[in-house]
Amino acid sequence: MSPPITQFEELALSPPLLQTLKEVGYEAPSPIQAACIPHLLAGHDLIGQAQTGTGKTAAFALPLLDRLDLTDRQPQVLVLTPTRELAIQVAEAFQSYARHLPGFHVLPIYGGQSMSLQLRHLRRGVHVVVGTPGRIMDHLRRETLALDGLRSVVLDEADEMLRMGFIEDVDWILEKTPAEKQVALFSATMPEPIRRVAHRHLREPREVKIQTRTATVATVRQRYCQVGVQHKLEALTRVLEVEETDAVLIFVRTKIAATELAERLEARGYPSAALHGDMTQALREKTIEQLRGGGLDIMVATDVAARGLDVQRISHVVNYDIPSDTEAYIHRIGRTGRAGRAGEAILFVAPREMRMLRVIEKATRQPITPMQPPSQAAIAGHRLNRFKQKILDTLAAQELGFFQEVVGQIEREQDIGARDIAAALAYLMQRDRPLQLPEGVEAKPTRPQRVDEARDRAEPTDRPPRRRERSGESAEFAAKPTRPPAADEAGDRAEPVARSTRQRERAREGAEFEVMRYRLEVGHQHGATPQNIVGAIANEAGIESRYIGRIEIHDDYSTVDLPIGMPEEIFQHLKKVRVRQYPLNISRLGPSEPERARKRSVADRASAGEKAPRSARSRSGQREAGTASRPRREFKS
Ligand code: AMP
Repeated sequence: MSPPITQFEELALSPPLLQTLKEVGYEAPSPIQAACIPHLLAGHDLIGQAQTGTGKTAAFALPLLDRLDLTDRQPQVLVLTPTRELAIQVAEAFQSYARHLPGFHVLPIYGGQSMSLQLRHLRRGVHVVVGTPGRIMDHLRRETLALDGLRSVVLDEADEMLRMGFIEDVDWILEKTPAEKQVALFSATMPEPIRRVAHRHLREPREVKIQTRTATVATVRQRYCQVGVQHKLEALTRVLEVEETDAVLIFVRTKIAATELAERLEARGYPSAALHGDMTQALREKTIEQLRGGGLDIMVATDVAARGLDVQRISHVVNYDIPSDTEAYIHRIGRTGRAGRAGEAILFVAPREMRMLRVIEKATRQPITPMQPPSQAAIAGHRLNRFKQKILDTLAAQELGFFQEVVGQIEREQDIGARDIAAALAYLMQRDRPLQLPEGVEAKPTRPQRVDEARDRAEPTDRPPRRRERSGESAEFAAKPTRPPAADEAGDRAEPVARSTRQRERAREGAEFEVMRYRLEVGHQHGATPQNIVGAIANEAGIESRYIGRIEIHDDYSTVDLPIGMPEEIFQHLKKVRVRQYPLNISRLGPSEPERARKRSVADRASAGEKAPRSARSRSGQREAGTASRPRREFKS
C-alpha cells in the first residue's frame, strides 16, 4: 500500500490550482480529498461517502477543474445539488478554486432565480453548471442547456436529493447526458435507492469511505455550541471570558484563519499567538514554549502545526472550525486532559454541520453535550465575582499602607467619603471590561437543533449566502435562513413590516401562520408523493419546507396549504414547475385553517422511517377516523 497523501503537491494537481490552495491557506488535503482527487483526476467514476464539512466540495471541484478544456465554452461539468443554497455554495467554491484559470465560468442554476439571467449566461458560455434538479430539467426541456459536451457529472448530497423526492429527476437528467462521461456520487449515507442510481449510471466506480476509528477520550468533557459563522468570534470571546481556563488551544482550518483569529482576539483584549505551518520551526518552538511557560495563554493553531503538541497546562481545546474528519477531532481534543488532568473541549458547529457532529460523537463514543454561548447576564455576573475576588485577594496579600494614606488624603482634602472614592477607582479599573453590560446585545447562537431538524435544509433564502471568507470558512448563515411565509413579499399592505417580522418570529417558534389552500394537478396516478411536492415547492417557490402545510394527495390532483400572500410571480412560476414530469398547474382554492410551522418536515419523518400522520400528509387523502372526516374546504371542481 502506498503511504497516505499528506500534501497537496503529491496530488498531481496543476500549478495554478496548487497556487490557489496556497493562497486560501489549506495546509493539507483532508482525508476525503486525498482519497478522491487521484481517482477523479484519472477519470474514474466514484462513490464518496462523506458529510458536509469534510472538504468534499474541493474533493471534486479541484480535479474536475484540472480536467477542463477552458477553450471549450460549453458545459463540461454538471453538479446536481438538492438545494439552491448548496448550488450557490458549490458554484462559489468552483469560482474561488479557479481564480488562476483565466476565462473560467461557472453558473449556478436554481428555481426562483430569473430565467432570462440564466439564459443570458448560458448563451455566453459556461464551463461548469451547478443546479438543483428542477431547474436543470426546465432548461433541458426548453433545450436551453446543451449537455453534448459534458464530461463529468457530480451528484452532491445524493441522499438529500432522495429525501426531497428528486431522485427520479436525477435519473431523468442522467439519461439526457452523453453515454461517455465520468460520474461522481457523494452521499453521507447509502440507502438502497442511491445504490440503484449508482448501479445504473456509474461504471466501475471507485468507492471512497473514510473509515472512522473510534477512540474514547475519557478525561475530556466535550460540549458543542451551535453558532453561525458570523457570530463565532463573539461566542468565542464570551466562552473565554467565563470559562475557568489555564491555557487555551483554538483550532481553525487554515493558516490564514489562524493568523486572523489570533489578531482579532488580540484586538479584543485576549493576547494570543498563531501556530501554523508557514511559521519557521524556531518561531513555532518559541510560541509553544511561551504557552508551556505561562507567558502565553491562548494559541490559535491548525491541525498540522499542532500535531503531537504536548503542553500540560492546556485546559481547553476550542474547535472554532469543525474538523474535516473524526481523527482530526480526536487528535485535537487529545491536546487537553493530559497527564491525567481534566480537560474541556468545546466545538462550534453551524446548523448545516450538525450531521458531522453526530459522526464525531459516535467516533468518540461519548456524548457531546449542547451549551449556549454565555449570555450578557452570565458575563456580567462573572466579571463582578472576579472583581470582588480580586479585591479580597489584594487586601489579603498586599501591603496597602501607602494607598490607604492616599485615600485618606482625598477624603480629607475633598470631603468625599471612602465609598465614593472606591467607586471611582472601580470604574477606572473596569472601564474596558464594564461590570454592567447593555441589555439586548446578545450573540446570536442558533437554537440548539436536533440533527433531523438541521437536515431540513430545503430552505432557500431571500438573500444570497455570505461569500466564503478568506479564512476558508464555509459560507454559512447565522440562524437558519428562514425565508418566512411569502406574505412578506406580497406584502400585507396594511402593516407589511410589522407583520412580516412578527410572522417570521412566530413561525420560527413553531407558532401558527395563516395559510391558503392550493390545488395541484398531480396526484397518485402521476406518481406524486408528499416528498416530491415538498421538494418542488421548497426549491422553486423559496418556501422553507416547514411552512409547507397539509398535503392531500388524491387520484388525479393534490392540495397543499401554503402561507398566504404568495407573490404572483412565484405563483405563475409554480404553475410550470413539474413533479414526475407533470406540471403542477397550481390554482388557488381559498384560505384554510391556520397551520403550525412544522418542526420536522414530512420528508424528515419519511427518511427516519416514520409514517407521516395521515391527517396531515396522507397518501390516500383521507383523514384518520376520529378526526374531521373531510378536508375542511370544499373543492370547486
Ligand atoms: P465542504 O465539506 O466541502 O463543505 O468544506 C467544508 C469547509 O472546509 C469549507 O469551508 C472549505 O473551504 C474548507 N476546506 C476544504 N478543504 C480544506 C482543506 N484541505 N484544509 C482546510 N480547509 C478546507
